[in-house]
Amino acid sequence: MKTDILIVGSGCAGLYCALCLPSDKSITIITKSDLESSDSFLAQGGICVLRDEEDYQSFFEDTLKAGHYENDRQSVEIMIRSSRKTIDDLIGYGVEFARCSDGSLDYTREGAHAKPRILYHADITGREITSKLLARVKECDHITLLPHTTCLDIIEEQGECRGAVIAHADGSIETVSCAYTVLATGGVGGLYRHSTNFPHLTGDALAIALRHGVALQDADYVQIHPTTFYTKEAGERSFLISESVRGEGAKLYNKHMERFVDELLPRDRLTEAIHRQMEKDGSDFVWEDLRPIPQEELETHFPNIVAYCREHGYDVTRECIPVVPAQHYFMGGVKVDHESRTDMPRLFAIGETACNGVHGKNRLASNSLLESLVFAARAANAIKEENGSIGALPEVDLSVYRDREALAAAYRDLVWNEIQRRRIEHV
Ligand SMILES: Cc1cc2nc3c(=O)[nH]c(=O)nc-3n(C[C@H](O)[C@H](O)[C@H](O)COP(=O)(O)OP(=O)(O)OC[C@H]3O[C@@H](n4cnc5c(N)ncnc54)[C@H](O)[C@@H]3O)c2cc1C
Repeated sequence: MKTDILIVGSGCAGLYCALCLPSDKSITIITKSDLESSDSFLAQGGICVLRDEEDYQSFFEDTLKAGHYENDRQSVEIMIRSSRKTIDDLIGYGVEFARCSDGSLDYTREGAHAKPRILYHADITGREITSKLLARVKECDHITLLPHTTCLDIIEEQGECRGAVIAHADGSIETVSCAYTVLATGGVGGLYRHSTNFPHLTGDALAIALRHGVALQDADYVQIHPTTFYTKEAGERSFLISESVRGEGAKLYNKHMERFVDELLPRDRLTEAIHRQMEKDGSDFVWEDLRPIPQEELETHFPNIVAYCREHGYDVTRECIPVVPAQHYFMGGVKVDHESRTDMPRLFAIGETACNGVHGKNRLASNSLLESLVFAARAANAIKEENGSIGALPEVDLSVYRDREALAAAYRDLVWNEIQRRRIEHV
Protein backbone atom coordinates (compact mmCIF):
# COMPACT_ATOMS: atom_id res chain seq x y z
CA MET A 1 0.00 0.00 0.00
CA LYS A 2 1.13 3.56 -0.65
CA THR A 3 -0.04 6.68 1.15
CA ASP A 4 1.54 10.10 1.68
CA ILE A 5 1.06 10.02 5.43
CA LEU A 6 0.34 7.04 7.65
CA ILE A 7 -1.18 7.81 11.06
CA VAL A 8 -1.15 4.97 13.59
CA GLY A 9 -4.05 5.44 16.01
CA SER A 10 -7.48 7.06 15.78
CA GLY A 11 -7.71 8.84 19.13
CA CYS A 12 -8.04 12.61 19.28
CA ALA A 13 -4.33 13.08 18.44
CA GLY A 14 -4.40 10.96 15.27
CA LEU A 15 -7.73 12.35 14.04
CA TYR A 16 -6.85 15.99 14.67
CA CYS A 17 -3.44 15.57 13.02
CA ALA A 18 -5.18 14.18 9.92
CA LEU A 19 -7.57 17.15 9.83
CA CYS A 20 -4.68 19.62 10.12
CA LEU A 21 -2.72 18.07 7.22
CA PRO A 22 -3.10 19.49 3.70
CA SER A 23 -6.05 18.02 1.81
CA ASP A 24 -3.96 17.38 -1.32
CA LYS A 25 -2.12 14.60 0.56
CA SER A 26 -3.41 11.05 0.84
CA ILE A 27 -3.69 10.13 4.50
CA THR A 28 -4.34 6.70 5.97
CA ILE A 29 -5.33 6.24 9.61
CA ILE A 30 -5.03 2.71 10.94
CA THR A 31 -6.34 1.66 14.32
CA LYS A 32 -5.96 -1.54 16.29
CA SER A 33 -9.57 -1.89 17.41
CA ASP A 34 -12.84 -0.25 16.36
CA LEU A 35 -12.96 3.50 15.83
CA GLU A 36 -14.56 4.28 19.19
CA SER A 37 -12.20 2.22 21.33
CA SER A 38 -9.64 4.85 22.15
CA ASP A 39 -9.02 6.50 25.51
CA SER A 40 -9.97 9.80 23.90
CA PHE A 41 -13.58 8.60 23.97
CA LEU A 42 -13.30 7.95 27.71
CA ALA A 43 -12.13 11.38 28.85
CA GLN A 44 -14.66 12.65 31.34
CA GLY A 45 -13.56 15.79 33.11
CA GLY A 46 -12.72 18.22 30.34
CA ILE A 47 -10.08 20.17 28.48
CA CYS A 48 -8.06 23.08 29.82
CA VAL A 49 -7.94 26.45 28.13
CA LEU A 50 -6.33 29.79 28.84
CA ARG A 51 -9.35 31.83 29.90
CA ASP A 52 -7.66 35.20 29.61
CA GLU A 53 -4.20 36.74 29.86
CA GLU A 54 -4.59 37.16 33.60
CA ASP A 55 -4.71 33.40 34.06
CA TYR A 56 -1.48 32.69 32.13
CA GLN A 57 0.97 32.68 35.08
CA SER A 58 -1.40 30.69 37.25
CA PHE A 59 -2.06 28.04 34.54
CA PHE A 60 1.69 27.81 33.85
CA GLU A 61 2.52 27.50 37.55
CA ASP A 62 -0.19 24.87 38.21
CA THR A 63 1.14 22.74 35.32
CA LEU A 64 4.72 23.01 36.59
CA LYS A 65 3.81 22.41 40.21
CA ALA A 66 1.87 19.26 39.34
CA GLY A 67 4.83 18.14 37.18
CA HIS A 68 7.30 18.61 40.07
CA TYR A 69 8.99 21.35 38.00
CA GLU A 70 10.44 18.72 35.67
CA ASN A 71 8.32 20.00 32.77
CA ASP A 72 9.77 21.33 29.53
CA ARG A 73 8.84 24.98 29.98
CA GLN A 74 8.71 25.74 26.29
CA SER A 75 6.28 22.87 25.70
CA VAL A 76 4.08 24.19 28.51
CA GLU A 77 4.16 27.68 27.03
CA ILE A 78 3.29 26.38 23.55
CA MET A 79 0.40 24.33 24.94
CA ILE A 80 -1.11 27.17 26.94
CA ARG A 81 -0.61 29.79 24.22
CA SER A 82 -2.19 27.52 21.59
CA SER A 83 -5.15 26.49 23.73
CA ARG A 84 -7.65 29.15 22.66
CA LYS A 85 -7.08 28.53 18.96
CA THR A 86 -7.45 24.80 19.52
CA ILE A 87 -10.75 25.26 21.33
CA ASP A 88 -12.01 27.61 18.59
CA ASP A 89 -11.10 24.93 16.06
CA LEU A 90 -13.01 22.28 18.01
CA ILE A 91 -16.06 24.51 18.23
CA GLY A 92 -15.72 24.97 14.46
CA TYR A 93 -15.91 21.19 14.10
CA GLY A 94 -19.18 21.25 15.99
CA VAL A 95 -17.93 20.38 19.48
CA GLU A 96 -20.32 21.67 22.13
CA PHE A 97 -19.06 22.71 25.56
CA ALA A 98 -21.23 23.49 28.58
CA ARG A 99 -22.41 27.10 28.64
CA CYS A 100 -23.78 29.46 31.26
CA SER A 101 -27.31 30.82 31.01
CA ASP A 102 -25.99 33.91 29.16
CA GLY A 103 -24.44 31.68 26.49
CA SER A 104 -20.83 32.17 27.55
CA LEU A 105 -18.57 29.13 28.07
CA ASP A 106 -18.81 27.56 31.51
CA TYR A 107 -15.55 26.59 33.25
CA THR A 108 -15.09 23.90 35.88
CA ARG A 109 -12.17 23.17 38.18
CA GLU A 110 -10.24 20.00 38.98
CA GLY A 111 -7.59 18.93 41.49
CA ALA A 112 -4.42 21.08 41.57
CA HIS A 113 -5.94 23.88 39.47
CA ALA A 114 -5.91 27.24 41.25
CA LYS A 115 -8.91 28.40 39.19
CA PRO A 116 -11.76 27.02 37.09
CA ARG A 117 -10.30 26.85 33.54
CA ILE A 118 -11.67 23.57 32.21
CA LEU A 119 -14.26 23.30 29.46
CA TYR A 120 -16.52 20.27 29.61
CA HIS A 121 -19.47 18.52 28.07
CA ALA A 122 -21.36 16.85 30.93
CA ASP A 123 -18.97 14.07 32.01
CA ILE A 124 -18.33 12.83 28.48
CA THR A 125 -16.06 15.57 27.14
CA GLY A 126 -13.76 13.13 25.34
CA ARG A 127 -16.63 11.45 23.52
CA GLU A 128 -18.01 14.83 22.44
CA ILE A 129 -14.65 16.01 21.06
CA THR A 130 -13.49 12.75 19.48
CA SER A 131 -16.80 11.78 17.90
CA LYS A 132 -17.01 15.20 16.22
CA LEU A 133 -13.43 14.91 14.93
CA LEU A 134 -14.17 11.39 13.68
CA ALA A 135 -17.33 12.56 11.92
CA ARG A 136 -15.32 15.26 10.14
CA VAL A 137 -12.57 12.81 9.15
CA LYS A 138 -15.20 10.50 7.66
CA GLU A 139 -16.32 13.35 5.40
CA CYS A 140 -12.82 13.80 3.96
CA ASP A 141 -12.19 11.94 0.69
CA HIS A 142 -8.42 12.20 1.08
CA ILE A 143 -8.43 10.37 4.43
CA THR A 144 -8.86 6.59 4.61
CA LEU A 145 -9.79 4.99 7.93
CA LEU A 146 -8.80 1.37 8.52
CA PRO A 147 -10.19 -0.02 11.78
CA HIS A 148 -8.95 -3.35 13.19
CA THR A 149 -5.63 -2.76 11.50
CA THR A 150 -2.49 -2.96 13.63
CA CYS A 151 0.93 -1.47 13.12
CA LEU A 152 3.45 -4.24 13.75
CA ASP A 153 6.62 -2.33 12.95
CA ILE A 154 8.10 0.61 11.09
CA ILE A 155 10.35 0.16 8.09
CA GLU A 156 13.73 1.80 8.33
CA GLU A 157 16.10 2.56 5.47
CA GLN A 158 19.38 4.42 5.95
CA GLY A 159 18.22 5.64 9.34
CA GLU A 160 14.96 7.10 7.99
CA CYS A 161 11.42 5.87 8.44
CA ARG A 162 10.06 4.78 5.08
CA GLY A 163 6.79 3.22 6.17
CA ALA A 164 5.34 0.43 8.26
CA VAL A 165 4.32 -3.20 8.44
CA ILE A 166 0.62 -3.55 9.19
CA ALA A 167 -1.78 -6.43 9.87
CA HIS A 168 -5.37 -6.26 8.63
CA ALA A 169 -8.48 -7.59 10.37
CA ASP A 170 -8.38 -10.77 8.22
CA GLY A 171 -4.84 -11.50 9.41
CA SER A 172 -3.11 -10.51 6.17
CA ILE A 173 0.12 -8.57 6.56
CA GLU A 174 1.43 -5.94 4.19
CA THR A 175 3.90 -3.10 3.94
CA VAL A 176 2.92 0.56 3.73
CA SER A 177 5.16 2.91 1.83
CA CYS A 178 4.78 6.55 2.92
CA ALA A 179 6.56 9.86 3.19
CA TYR A 180 5.77 10.26 6.90
CA THR A 181 4.62 7.98 9.69
CA VAL A 182 2.90 9.45 12.75
CA LEU A 183 2.69 7.29 15.86
CA ALA A 184 -0.44 8.09 17.90
CA THR A 185 -0.96 4.82 19.77
CA GLY A 186 -1.99 6.24 23.16
CA GLY A 187 -0.94 4.99 26.59
CA VAL A 188 0.28 1.82 28.27
CA GLY A 189 -2.67 0.89 30.52
CA GLY A 190 -3.07 -2.51 28.85
CA LEU A 191 0.15 -3.60 30.56
CA TYR A 192 -1.46 -3.18 34.01
CA ARG A 193 -3.98 -5.33 35.87
CA HIS A 194 -5.90 -2.28 37.11
CA SER A 195 -6.13 0.57 34.65
CA THR A 196 -8.69 3.06 33.40
CA ASN A 197 -7.34 2.58 29.84
CA PHE A 198 -8.56 0.25 27.10
CA PRO A 199 -6.70 -3.06 27.42
CA HIS A 200 -5.47 -3.01 23.81
CA LEU A 201 -3.39 0.10 24.56
CA THR A 202 -0.10 -1.61 25.30
CA GLY A 203 2.46 1.00 24.24
CA ASP A 204 3.19 -0.61 20.85
CA ALA A 205 4.85 2.57 19.57
CA LEU A 206 7.30 2.42 22.46
CA ALA A 207 8.22 -1.20 21.67
CA ILE A 208 8.72 -0.31 18.02
CA ALA A 209 10.83 2.71 18.98
CA LEU A 210 12.96 0.59 21.30
CA ARG A 211 13.57 -1.98 18.56
CA HIS A 212 14.77 0.75 16.21
CA GLY A 213 16.87 2.71 18.71
CA VAL A 214 14.47 5.68 18.62
CA ALA A 215 14.85 7.60 21.90
CA LEU A 216 12.26 7.46 24.68
CA GLN A 217 11.89 9.93 27.51
CA ASP A 218 10.66 9.54 31.11
CA ALA A 219 9.42 6.00 30.47
CA ASP A 220 8.94 5.43 34.20
CA TYR A 221 6.58 8.38 34.66
CA VAL A 222 3.26 6.59 34.98
CA GLN A 223 0.30 8.32 36.57
CA ILE A 224 -2.01 6.50 38.90
CA HIS A 225 -5.49 8.04 39.16
CA PRO A 226 -6.47 8.36 42.82
CA THR A 227 -10.17 7.59 42.44
CA THR A 228 -11.62 4.75 40.37
CA PHE A 229 -14.74 2.82 41.30
CA TYR A 230 -13.80 -0.21 43.43
CA THR A 231 -15.19 -3.62 42.53
CA LYS A 232 -14.18 -6.92 44.10
CA GLU A 233 -13.65 -8.63 40.77
CA ALA A 234 -10.77 -7.36 38.63
CA GLY A 235 -12.81 -6.12 35.67
CA GLU A 236 -11.65 -5.24 32.17
CA ARG A 237 -11.23 -1.56 32.86
CA SER A 238 -11.42 0.50 36.04
CA PHE A 239 -14.19 3.10 35.90
CA LEU A 240 -12.96 6.59 36.62
CA ILE A 241 -14.59 8.83 39.19
CA SER A 242 -13.49 12.10 37.65
CA GLU A 243 -11.41 14.67 39.46
CA SER A 244 -14.12 17.21 38.66
CA VAL A 245 -16.38 15.74 41.32
CA ARG A 246 -13.73 16.63 43.89
CA GLY A 247 -13.34 20.02 42.23
CA GLU A 248 -17.08 20.48 42.77
CA GLY A 249 -16.91 19.45 46.45
CA ALA A 250 -16.80 15.63 46.81
CA LYS A 251 -14.96 14.41 49.92
CA LEU A 252 -12.84 11.35 50.76
CA TYR A 253 -13.27 9.37 53.98
CA ASN A 254 -11.43 6.58 55.79
CA LYS A 255 -13.21 3.53 57.19
CA HIS A 256 -14.50 5.60 60.13
CA MET A 257 -16.08 8.03 57.65
CA GLU A 258 -13.61 10.76 58.62
CA ARG A 259 -11.80 13.03 56.12
CA PHE A 260 -8.09 12.26 55.98
CA VAL A 261 -6.70 14.37 53.13
CA ASP A 262 -7.06 17.56 51.07
CA GLU A 263 -9.06 16.20 48.12
CA LEU A 264 -7.59 18.76 45.70
CA LEU A 265 -3.96 17.68 46.02
CA PRO A 266 -2.17 16.79 42.74
CA ARG A 267 -2.89 13.21 41.63
CA ASP A 268 0.37 11.63 42.73
CA ARG A 269 0.25 13.07 46.24
CA LEU A 270 -3.41 12.20 46.68
CA THR A 271 -2.75 8.65 45.46
CA GLU A 272 0.04 8.26 48.03
CA ALA A 273 -2.25 9.53 50.79
CA ILE A 274 -5.03 7.10 49.77
CA HIS A 275 -2.62 4.15 49.65
CA ARG A 276 -1.31 5.07 53.11
CA GLN A 277 -4.86 5.31 54.44
CA MET A 278 -5.88 1.97 52.92
CA GLU A 279 -2.90 0.34 54.61
CA LYS A 280 -3.77 1.95 57.94
CA ASP A 281 -7.41 0.86 57.60
CA GLY A 282 -6.52 -2.63 56.32
CA SER A 283 -8.98 -1.92 53.50
CA ASP A 284 -8.98 -2.32 49.71
CA PHE A 285 -10.60 1.10 49.17
CA VAL A 286 -11.55 4.43 50.74
CA TRP A 287 -14.95 6.15 50.55
CA GLU A 288 -15.87 9.03 48.29
CA ASP A 289 -18.84 11.18 49.18
CA LEU A 290 -20.52 13.00 46.30
CA ARG A 291 -23.37 14.27 48.46
CA PRO A 292 -21.79 17.71 49.06
CA ILE A 293 -22.54 18.35 45.35
CA PRO A 294 -26.12 19.59 44.87
CA GLN A 295 -28.31 16.84 43.40
CA GLU A 296 -29.21 18.87 40.33
CA GLU A 297 -25.52 19.56 39.61
CA LEU A 298 -24.78 15.85 40.02
CA GLU A 299 -27.45 14.85 37.53
CA THR A 300 -26.53 17.47 34.91
CA HIS A 301 -22.73 17.63 35.21
CA PHE A 302 -22.01 13.96 36.04
CA PRO A 303 -24.85 11.86 34.59
CA ASN A 304 -22.50 9.13 33.41
CA ILE A 305 -20.90 8.67 36.84
CA VAL A 306 -24.28 8.76 38.59
CA ALA A 307 -25.67 6.12 36.20
CA TYR A 308 -22.61 3.86 36.46
CA CYS A 309 -22.69 3.89 40.27
CA ARG A 310 -26.44 3.24 40.23
CA GLU A 311 -25.93 0.22 37.94
CA HIS A 312 -23.38 -1.05 40.45
CA GLY A 313 -25.69 -0.68 43.44
CA TYR A 314 -24.81 2.80 44.75
CA ASP A 315 -27.06 5.85 44.79
CA VAL A 316 -24.54 8.70 45.02
CA THR A 317 -27.20 11.14 46.16
CA ARG A 318 -27.69 9.07 49.33
CA GLU A 319 -24.50 7.13 50.05
CA CYS A 320 -20.71 7.07 49.64
CA ILE A 321 -18.99 4.95 46.99
CA PRO A 322 -15.82 2.84 47.38
CA VAL A 323 -12.85 4.14 45.35
CA VAL A 324 -9.30 2.92 44.76
CA PRO A 325 -6.29 4.23 42.75
CA ALA A 326 -5.53 2.65 39.32
CA GLN A 327 -3.05 3.19 36.45
CA HIS A 328 -4.33 6.05 34.34
CA TYR A 329 -1.86 8.00 32.23
CA PHE A 330 1.62 7.79 30.77
CA MET A 331 3.65 10.99 31.03
CA GLY A 332 6.69 9.44 29.33
CA GLY A 333 6.87 8.27 25.74
CA VAL A 334 8.70 8.46 22.45
CA LYS A 335 10.94 11.50 22.80
CA VAL A 336 9.89 14.34 20.50
CA ASP A 337 10.84 17.95 19.88
CA HIS A 338 8.38 20.86 19.93
CA GLU A 339 7.14 19.93 16.44
CA SER A 340 6.55 16.29 17.51
CA ARG A 341 9.54 14.94 15.54
CA THR A 342 11.21 11.83 16.96
CA ASP A 343 14.95 11.43 16.52
CA MET A 344 14.34 9.32 13.39
CA PRO A 345 13.73 11.42 10.27
CA ARG A 346 10.18 11.12 8.84
CA LEU A 347 8.86 9.59 12.06
CA PHE A 348 6.60 11.68 14.28
CA ALA A 349 4.89 10.84 17.57
CA ILE A 350 1.89 12.62 19.11
CA GLY A 351 -0.61 12.28 21.93
CA GLU A 352 -0.08 10.12 24.98
CA THR A 353 2.50 7.93 23.25
CA ALA A 354 4.83 10.90 22.74
CA CYS A 355 6.81 12.83 25.33
CA ASN A 356 7.62 16.47 24.73
CA GLY A 357 8.08 17.01 28.46
CA VAL A 358 4.94 19.08 28.87
CA HIS A 359 3.68 17.12 31.88
CA GLY A 360 7.00 16.67 33.68
CA LYS A 361 6.73 13.98 36.34
CA ASN A 362 2.99 14.20 36.79
CA ARG A 363 0.19 15.44 34.54
CA LEU A 364 -2.14 18.19 35.65
CA ALA A 365 -5.76 17.12 35.20
CA SER A 366 -7.33 17.94 31.81
CA ASN A 367 -4.04 18.95 30.21
CA SER A 368 -3.75 15.78 28.11
CA LEU A 369 -6.54 16.26 25.59
CA LEU A 370 -5.21 19.77 25.06
CA GLU A 371 -1.58 18.65 24.76
CA SER A 372 -2.56 15.86 22.33
CA LEU A 373 -4.39 18.29 20.05
CA VAL A 374 -1.87 21.14 20.19
CA PHE A 375 1.12 18.96 19.34
CA ALA A 376 -0.81 16.93 16.74
CA ALA A 377 -1.41 20.20 14.87
CA ARG A 378 2.28 21.06 15.17
CA ALA A 379 3.25 17.67 13.71
CA ALA A 380 0.90 18.33 10.79
CA ASN A 381 2.49 21.74 10.25
CA ALA A 382 6.02 20.35 10.32
CA ILE A 383 5.07 17.62 7.82
CA LYS A 384 3.51 20.24 5.58
CA GLU A 385 6.68 22.34 5.69
CA GLU A 386 9.04 19.40 5.09
CA ASN A 387 6.85 18.26 2.22
CA GLY A 388 8.85 15.05 1.63
CA SER A 389 7.85 12.44 -0.91
CA ILE A 390 7.45 8.68 -0.71
CA GLY A 391 10.80 6.86 -0.97
CA ALA A 392 11.62 3.34 -2.11
CA LEU A 393 11.01 0.57 0.41
CA PRO A 394 13.75 -1.93 1.19
CA GLU A 395 13.03 -5.69 1.05
CA VAL A 396 11.03 -6.69 4.12
CA ASP A 397 10.78 -10.29 5.37
CA LEU A 398 7.13 -10.46 6.44
CA SER A 399 7.43 -14.00 7.80
CA VAL A 400 8.94 -12.65 11.05
CA TYR A 401 5.57 -11.00 11.82
CA ARG A 402 3.37 -14.07 11.26
CA ASP A 403 3.20 -15.19 14.91
CA ARG A 404 1.18 -12.22 16.13
CA GLU A 405 0.76 -13.48 19.70
CA ALA A 406 4.46 -14.02 20.20
CA LEU A 407 5.18 -10.58 18.76
CA ALA A 408 2.60 -8.92 21.02
CA ALA A 409 4.03 -10.70 24.08
CA ALA A 410 7.56 -9.66 23.12
CA TYR A 411 6.43 -6.03 22.72
CA ARG A 412 4.67 -6.04 26.09
CA ASP A 413 7.80 -7.41 27.79
CA LEU A 414 10.00 -4.89 26.06
CA VAL A 415 7.92 -1.93 27.23
CA TRP A 416 7.28 -3.28 30.72
CA ASN A 417 10.98 -4.00 31.27
CA GLU A 418 11.93 -0.55 30.04
CA ILE A 419 9.49 1.10 32.45
CA GLN A 420 10.92 -0.96 35.34
CA ARG A 421 14.53 -0.39 34.26
CA ARG A 422 14.09 3.37 34.20
CA ARG A 423 12.25 3.29 37.52
CA ILE A 424 15.20 1.52 39.17
CA GLU A 425 17.62 3.97 37.53
CA HIS A 426 15.63 6.89 38.93
CA VAL A 427 15.62 5.62 42.54
C1 LIG B 1 -11.03 7.15 31.79
C2 LIG B 1 -10.18 8.28 31.29
C3 LIG B 1 -10.55 9.59 31.53
C4 LIG B 1 -9.78 10.66 31.05
N1 LIG B 1 -10.20 11.94 31.28
C5 LIG B 1 -9.48 12.97 30.75
C6 LIG B 1 -9.93 14.31 30.86
O1 LIG B 1 -10.99 14.58 31.42
N2 LIG B 1 -9.18 15.30 30.30
C7 LIG B 1 -8.00 15.06 29.65
O2 LIG B 1 -7.36 16.00 29.19
N3 LIG B 1 -7.56 13.78 29.52
C8 LIG B 1 -8.25 12.74 30.03
N4 LIG B 1 -7.81 11.46 29.88
C9 LIG B 1 -6.58 11.22 29.10
C10 LIG B 1 -6.86 11.38 27.62
O3 LIG B 1 -8.11 10.79 27.31
C11 LIG B 1 -5.80 10.70 26.79
O4 LIG B 1 -4.53 11.04 27.25
C12 LIG B 1 -5.88 11.14 25.35
O5 LIG B 1 -7.20 10.94 24.88
C13 LIG B 1 -4.89 10.36 24.50
O6 LIG B 1 -5.23 10.51 23.15
P1 LIG B 1 -4.39 9.73 22.05
O7 LIG B 1 -4.99 10.11 20.75
O8 LIG B 1 -2.96 9.97 22.28
O9 LIG B 1 -4.64 8.19 22.39
P2 LIG B 1 -5.96 7.30 22.38
O10 LIG B 1 -7.17 8.12 22.36
O11 LIG B 1 -5.82 6.31 23.48
O12 LIG B 1 -5.86 6.54 20.99
C14 LIG B 1 -4.86 5.59 20.76
C15 LIG B 1 -5.19 4.89 19.46
O13 LIG B 1 -4.09 4.10 19.04
C16 LIG B 1 -4.58 2.87 18.54
N5 LIG B 1 -3.47 1.91 18.59
C17 LIG B 1 -2.77 1.47 19.66
N6 LIG B 1 -1.80 0.62 19.27
C18 LIG B 1 -1.91 0.49 17.93
C19 LIG B 1 -1.23 -0.25 16.93
N7 LIG B 1 -0.19 -1.04 17.23
N8 LIG B 1 -1.65 -0.16 15.64
C20 LIG B 1 -2.72 0.62 15.30
N9 LIG B 1 -3.38 1.37 16.20
C21 LIG B 1 -2.99 1.31 17.49
C22 LIG B 1 -5.77 2.57 19.40
O14 LIG B 1 -6.60 1.62 18.82
C23 LIG B 1 -6.39 3.96 19.51
O15 LIG B 1 -7.18 4.24 18.40
C24 LIG B 1 -8.58 10.39 30.34
C25 LIG B 1 -8.19 9.06 30.11
C26 LIG B 1 -8.98 8.02 30.57
C27 LIG B 1 -8.54 6.61 30.30
